[in-house]
Amino acid sequence: MYDVHSPKATEFIDHQEILDTLAYAAKNKDNKELVRSLIQRARDCKGLTHREAALLLECNDPELIEEMYQVAREIKQKFYGNRIVMFAPLYLSNYCINGCVYCPYHAKNKHIRRKKLTQDEIRQEVIALQDMGHKRLALETGEDPKNNPIEYVLESIKTIYSIKHKNGAIRRVNVNIAATTVENYRKLKEAGIGTYILFQETYNKESYEALHPTGPKSDYAYHTEAMDRAMEAGIDDVGCGVLFGLETYRYDFVGILMHAEHLEARFGVGPHTISVPRICPADDIDTADFTNAVPDEIFQKIIAVIRIAVPYTGMIISTRESVSCRKKVLDLGISQISGGSRTSVGGYVEKESPEENSAQFDVSDTRSLDEVVNWLLELGYIPSFCTACYREGRTGDRFMSLVKSGQIANCCHPNALMTLKEYLEDYASEDTKKKGLALIERELKNIERDKTREICERNLKEIESGKRDFRF
Ligand code: SF4
Ligand code: SF4
Repeated sequence: MYDVHSPKATEFIDHQEILDTLAYAAKNKDNKELVRSLIQRARDCKGLTHREAALLLECNDPELIEEMYQVAREIKQKFYGNRIVMFAPLYLSNYCINGCVYCPYHAKNKHIRRKKLTQDEIRQEVIALQDMGHKRLALETGEDPKNNPIEYVLESIKTIYSIKHKNGAIRRVNVNIAATTVENYRKLKEAGIGTYILFQETYNKESYEALHPTGPKSDYAYHTEAMDRAMEAGIDDVGCGVLFGLETYRYDFVGILMHAEHLEARFGVGPHTISVPRICPADDIDTADFTNAVPDEIFQKIIAVIRIAVPYTGMIISTRESVSCRKKVLDLGISQISGGSRTSVGGYVEKESPEENSAQFDVSDTRSLDEVVNWLLELGYIPSFCTACYREGRTGDRFMSLVKSGQIANCCHPNALMTLKEYLEDYASEDTKKKGLALIERELKNIERDKTREICERNLKEIESGKRDFRF
C-alpha cells in the first residue's frame, strides 16, 4: 500500500502506485487543457506531484513540450541563474564484491585491472585535481568491506581535506559509497562530507533484483532505504539518481520523484541533488544488452520535467554525455557538471592505454577543465567553483528555506564570481582568463544589493593580490 511517510521501501516506492501513475499519464496525455493547466501552475515554482509530472512527461504535443521547456528555463533562471557549479569525480578503489550487470567493476569481471589508491596516491591525485582548479570532488568506491572499509574512506576524506598545494584546496568532498549503516553515515557526517550520493539505479524491484544478482547491493530494501538511514544519521544533504536505460525511463522517472516526495515528507528536506546518468559503454559492458536506452529528445524532456517538478533540487550531469547533449540540457535544468573527469582509479596522475582501461564508464566529453570552463563562458554561463553553503552550515532545511525563498541567489551569484576569479588567476589559459574577466565585469552589474556588490568588488581585488577563499 502506497504510503509516502512509511520507512519501508516497498511502501514509499509502491509498485502499484507507479503503475497507476503511468496508466493515468497514458490516459490523459492528449488532454491539452489539463497539461497546459499543469504547465501554468508549475510557473509558481512550487513543484508538481509525481503523477502530474508523469503526465507532462507522457505528453507528445510539440507545442506543449515547447511550453514545458520554456517553464523549465524560467525556473532554472530563477533559482540557478546562469551559474553552473563545477566538480570532478575521484575514484579511490574499484574493488567490488557486487554483481551489478551494467558496471565493469562487478566482482566477476576478471580482466579489469583492480586498484585501490594508497593515501600517498590519493595525495597525488588531489594535487593533480587542484592543479586543474577543482575545489569540489565526488568520491567513488566500489563496495568491498575488506578492501574499502569505512575507515579507509574516512582516512581518505581526511587526507583530501588536508592537502594544501599552492593556492589549491578541496573545499567540499561529496561521497558516493555503497548503502551502509546509520553508524557509518554518522562517521561520514563527522568527517565533514558535503552530500552523500547514492544512485538507486532502478526503482523497479524486480528489475533491480535481476540487475543485482549477487552481493550486498542485491538487497533492494536496504539500498532503497539508505537515504533514510543517512538522514537519521544527520546527513541532511543527499543526492539521488537513477541509471536511465536499465528500466523504462517512465518507471524510474516516477520512482525518483516518489523518493524525493518521501524524503521531504519524512524528514522535511528533499534530495539536495538529482543525477541523471544514462547507461553507456564500458569494459565488459555492451549497451546493446540494454533495450531501454533513452534517446536524446526524451532525455531532454526528462530533465526539463524534473526541473519543473522539483525546482529546488540541483541537477547533475556527468561527462558520460557528449558536448552537444550537455549544451542542450544546461538551460533546461542542469546546475552542476563535471569537467576534465577521469573515471578510472588513479586516472588523474596516470594516463592509461585503451587496452588497460579500468574506467567505470567511457567518458564522452573528454575536454580539459579549462576547455569546459572556456566553453561555458562562451555560452554565457558563469562556471562556479563555489562550495560555500556546507562550510557556512547552510545545509538541509536551512539551505532549502533559503532556496525556496529565492534568497540563496544573493550568495550563489557573488560566490560564483569570486571563485571563478580564483580559477582565472591560478589555473586558466590566457583566452579563458580574458573571457572570464570580461564576464565578471558584466555580471557584477547584476548583483542587486549595493552592499553585496561592494564587498564582492573588494574581494575580487583581494583575490588579484593573492588572497583566497572569500564567500558569502
Ligand atoms: Fe560495484 Fe558500484 Fe559497480 Fe555495482 S555499480 S559493481 S556496486 S562499483
Ligand atoms: Fe551552491 Fe551554496 Fe555556493 Fe550557491 S552559495 S553555489 S547553493 S554552495
